[in-house]
Amino acid sequence: ATEYSSLFTFFGGTGDLAKRKLYPSLFKLYVRGNLGEHFAVLGTARDSWDDAHFRDVVTESIQADQPDADMHAAEVFVKHFYYLAHDVTDKAHYAVMKDLVEKLDKQYETKGNRIFYLSMAPRFFGEVALNLKSEGLLSEDGSSRLVIEKPFGTDFDTAKTLNDQLSGAFTENQIYRIDHYLGKEMVQNIQALRFGNTFVESLWNNRYIDNVQITLSEKLGVEDRAGYYDTAGALRDMVQNHIMQIVSQLAMEQPVAFTDADVRVEKIKALRSLRVYSPAEAAKNFVRGQYGANDTEVDYRDEPNVPKDSANDTFVAGKLLFDNYRWSGVPFYVRTGKRLADKFTRIDVVFKKPLIDIFAFPQSMNTTLAPNVLTIYVEPNSGFSLQLNAKTAGQGFETEPIHLDFQQDVAQKEETPEPYERLLHDTLKGDQTNFASWNEVSYAWTFVDVIQKLWDSETPDFPNYVSGSMGPAASDELLQRDHRSWIYRL
Ligand code: NAD
Repeated sequence: ATEYSSLFTFFGGTGDLAKRKLYPSLFKLYVRGNLGEHFAVLGTARDSWDDAHFRDVVTESIQADQPDADMHAAEVFVKHFYYLAHDVTDKAHYAVMKDLVEKLDKQYETKGNRIFYLSMAPRFFGEVALNLKSEGLLSEDGSSRLVIEKPFGTDFDTAKTLNDQLSGAFTENQIYRIDHYLGKEMVQNIQALRFGNTFVESLWNNRYIDNVQITLSEKLGVEDRAGYYDTAGALRDMVQNHIMQIVSQLAMEQPVAFTDADVRVEKIKALRSLRVYSPAEAAKNFVRGQYGANDTEVDYRDEPNVPKDSANDTFVAGKLLFDNYRWSGVPFYVRTGKRLADKFTRIDVVFKKPLIDIFAFPQSMNTTLAPNVLTIYVEPNSGFSLQLNAKTAGQGFETEPIHLDFQQDVAQKEETPEPYERLLHDTLKGDQTNFASWNEVSYAWTFVDVIQKLWDSETPDFPNYVSGSMGPAASDELLQRDHRSWIYRL
């Protein structure tokens, strides 16, 4: 494994994400040998902790995440951790931080490589970035990288304001916008599948593909996140980022090479050819939902901290169209929601049926052939399934759909890094492939804003789907109208 030298500074270092994901992921990188002697971690937040307490918390978070972890290694690992109480809005504090950062840099010989990870409320992102620059925390000899959590704005205008602030301190190639879906094995595997297989890429267009379906289904409800979620909703929380990222990887042209710069160019081109709807088209092509009670679950509006008259969308389904030569006429149907039947993410690529069904001749024109469907399972298990037609054994001549399945086995699964581990590794490496660029973010918001604005102007009739279902009837009707249906149904 390549060993990197860097100093990490985690803002929001006492927060939930840092404890649950970031420190355990960093430890995994350490165990894999990506971090050796020359790294240090500075945790910072408002809480008045000291180094000893911080190290205890990190140790506990490793234990909670990896019960079998080598705790002797963890003991050595946490010696690299330091804590500084700091209010990000108080400029004077940055001078103290600068001294500490420079001291740790020398002590651990991190070569001036600095990673600033903002794991706190987004309203602080811009201010922190600008202060880091103005107070002299950016490295002069090594590399400085800024990692920021989602959400990136709440619409195009707020995203643009945030980006302008970030750009006042960091260049685009120093900014790593986290989209943890991009850290998932199977999302990255889309590229291997498409560009590593002749038969896939040669059929990957509107001559052979009828439609593409993307489902990000969650079983849980809003839990205790109503404060954030009720102001965001499924469209902004899931479609603008994760779904757009998946869609652009499915739709893009072949990159010249598999480098971050080349992949970005193609994703941006794809998003540029995504049709931005008029409000009337948005009303036709997007539907929303909010979950209602079933035997065991309550209405979304009865969840803790949700207003009784909330019009928030906990479900969205929509049809996306690309105006380019490859995809003209091929709808990309997407859906995501909370309190659906199960927790999974899958992509179903539905191929056109043969132009002529010779097996139906001459008795009937009713074809019995099922479409070929290539399913990409993203989670919980990674894998593929290909639906083909084969002859049913026996005297007669009938066909039936069969499935070629590949599921990642347990050994492979253990080798698979967690999304945050992979994304932290990419940040150390300086590889931006799995992060969202500003152009991608801005095109995605431009598309989503029309729909959100339309929805904000109308009062929906909620709740409109039962917990444990696959969403409102309108989601099925969206496809029925096009004489299609969701491949995954209950
Ligand atoms: P959290 O509320 O648990 O933690 C917030 C942190 O910010 C705390 O450490 C707090 O002390 C610190 N903080 C607040 N105000 C401060 C100030 N003025 N100066 C210095 N520090 C201050 O939040 P979280 O759940 O860890 O989320 C962090 C970020 O990650 C957010 O952007 C969130 O949207 C994103 N995120 C979280 C999750 C998750 O699972 N928790 C998932 C995806 C994205």
